[in-house]
Amino acid sequence: RATLVDDEEGGVLFVSAPPPSSSSGFGHSSLERQRQRLPVFKYRDAILYLVENHATTIIVGETGSGKTTQIPQAGWAEGGRVVACTQPRRLAVQSVASRVAEEMGVKIGEEVGYTIRFEDQTNPSVTVIKFLTDGVLIREMMNDPLLTKYSVIMVDEAHERSLSTDMLLGLLKKIQRRRPELRIIISSATIEAKSMSNFFQARKKDLRHAAEDCVPSHLPAILSVEGKGYTVEIHYVEEPVPDYLQAAVGTVLSINDKEPAGDILVFLTGQDDIDAAVKLLREDTQDDRRRTSGLLVLPLYSGLSRVDQDLVFAPTPRGKRKVVISTNIAETSLTLEGVVYVVDSGFSKQRFYNPISDIESLVVTPISKASARQRAGRAGRIQPGKCFRLYTEEYFLKEMPTEGIPEMQRSNLISCVIQLKALGIDNILGFDWLASPPPEAMVRALEVLYSLGILDEDAKLTSPIGYQVAEIPLDPMISKMILSACSFGCSEEIITIAAVLSVQSIWVSMWGAQKEFDEVKLRFAAAEGDHVTYLNVYKGFLNSGKSSQWCYKNYLNYQAMKKVVDVREQLSRLLRRLGLALKSYHTGFSECPLFLSFILRKAIIAGFFANSCHLEEYSHNGLYKTVRSSEEVFIHPSSVLFRVNPKWVVYHSLMSTNKHYMRNVIAIDPSWLIEAAPHFYQVRTPNLAPC
Ligand code: ADP
Ligand code: MG
Repeated sequence: RATLVDDEEGGVLFVSAPPPSSSSGFGHSSLERQRQRLPVFKYRDAILYLVENHATTIIVGETGSGKTTQIPQAGWAEGGRVVACTQPRRLAVQSVASRVAEEMGVKIGEEVGYTIRFEDQTNPSVTVIKFLTDGVLIREMMNDPLLTKYSVIMVDEAHERSLSTDMLLGLLKKIQRRRPELRIIISSATIEAKSMSNFFQARKKDLRHAAEDCVPSHLPAILSVEGKGYTVEIHYVEEPVPDYLQAAVGTVLSINDKEPAGDILVFLTGQDDIDAAVKLLREDTQDDRRRTSGLLVLPLYSGLSRVDQDLVFAPTPRGKRKVVISTNIAETSLTLEGVVYVVDSGFSKQRFYNPISDIESLVVTPISKASARQRAGRAGRIQPGKCFRLYTEEYFLKEMPTEGIPEMQRSNLISCVIQLKALGIDNILGFDWLASPPPEAMVRALEVLYSLGILDEDAKLTSPIGYQVAEIPLDPMISKMILSACSFGCSEEIITIAAVLSVQSIWVSMWGAQKEFDEVKLRFAAAEGDHVTYLNVYKGFLNSGKSSQWCYKNYLNYQAMKKVVDVREQLSRLLRRLGLALKSYHTGFSECPLFLSFILRKAIIAGFFANSCHLEEYSHNGLYKTVRSSEEVFIHPSSVLFRVNPKWVVYHSLMSTNKHYMRNVIAIDPSWLIEAAPHFYQVRTPNLAPC
């Protein structure tokens, strides 16, 4: 039994660790034995006890201790209760759900299921353990505000402090007041348990509606599960490295030369640099068999196909050394067995938003010390390991920030505002935040939503546009683009574009093959820009009979294209449900391509007018400035308009490394901006300026 200790200071209950109960003896499969060895498995009774008696339980345990896979299986399902377990990342949702289904010996989508955006693998009448992203759970509140179908909700990976996790925690606190029987579990690898506990400390009077015999303690319980990580030796570089990608590849080769057996986990930032490193290492295998013939090099990032995901988790073949090159998804969300060496680039890709310039971009950013420690920890899972940091010790000690900044404080809040509004929360600044969002960002979001016609002057959702936008599970700017396309009569085309924009990239990595890639793009390129090019690609894919061979020949990612078809189908169902007719310009209007070219771009601008830029007059290197804040930006090399440089453009998103790069760009006529958003722009001859 757990011992409960009162903490005088905060009135918080701490639980000292109970002696692990010996494993139960039944179940002899190796999977069952693996489970029983996990620290969390041994705490099962204590967890059941605490959750029964506390409205909120906070569980802290090292990565790989079994939090995600074992807590949902602890036995809540008895008595027909349903447990939800949220994750910030889609890939983690799929991966842990299939692992738990395997451990329980059931088919995924039956007792154990998962839901991510545009993919529901559950069966409401039999699913008792459901994994989902925190964003999807927030969406479920729109139809079921008190989340009545769940008895236990586990918010996992809370230390990540993703925007949706923070929103979810505030919303769950509200729900808890109305549903005293609901149990919340918050779990994480390195949580600031005390501040989380203070946040969830319910007032006694809030629990007064609970039946006498089921009054839970209003004080959250904190359970800390001991880890059993081995020591990890840390190595630093002597001098700062000029190129972390090359340095990472070099380090992998040198580990392979000098170090005894054990898999290698490399942390880079995103699909681009991961694919590049994979390519370099695989090429090296061909160049020099002796050095790398034993390497099995695999990428790991979201958007990876099922087959590729499974390869990462499959046991390393005898005589081989697995090298997994990953984003920070392998930092705490997923555990890879067999890793003995970690190579840490010191960077990750993060969202950053500047409310002054109103620019949000994905930025390659230095990680925090907390992340660096987590990354190193991954090397000590099965035996003492080594971590090679591609930065200097001095940098680590003196310059690396201690903690990361919660996403809430570095994001554009447009989606967040619209979702809270749709849930009836009008005073967003007064919402119970774990950490308050910056007021400037909030003001910017309100401003943009107003000019999109989603909020009215009283900051309430407009009808029908505002409510419809809130129903579509996409970025509000994309949703607005779709709704406008419905009135322009080109919604069939626009939902194809929206589907392509919702997958990471339909092209396979072009790293090191820019020339070939440029040639391929020319086969599909539309003068208007990327969005219209995607229509040509989609048409080609359908004409090929959705052939994987065709994709291969055209540098297209077959899995991504299949996803596009699937997302598009779901969007068309959703629009029909919203009572919006799907129209193609072929059926509605003349076949004049020029006409389509106009209406498509006008629909896109209706959503994305805030992202307009113009080419600097005397620029010879493709320098653009944003209209809103005169920020310097460039067209990304993956765009069909790269080197074409039209005078005026609108972009879909920005990616930043050493420069801001616009991804997915169309050429426009500036007068369309004023037409689409008169509140947003004014004409200041000869140029356009924000109001
Ligand atoms: P935590 O959430 O505490 O980090 P998990 O519950 O995710 O831990 O992992 C517990 C164990 O289950 C780990 O040893 C991990 O290797 C294993 N595991 C989890 N998911 C998978 C998977 N998809 N395939 C194989 N093993 C997995
Ligand atoms: Mg986990």
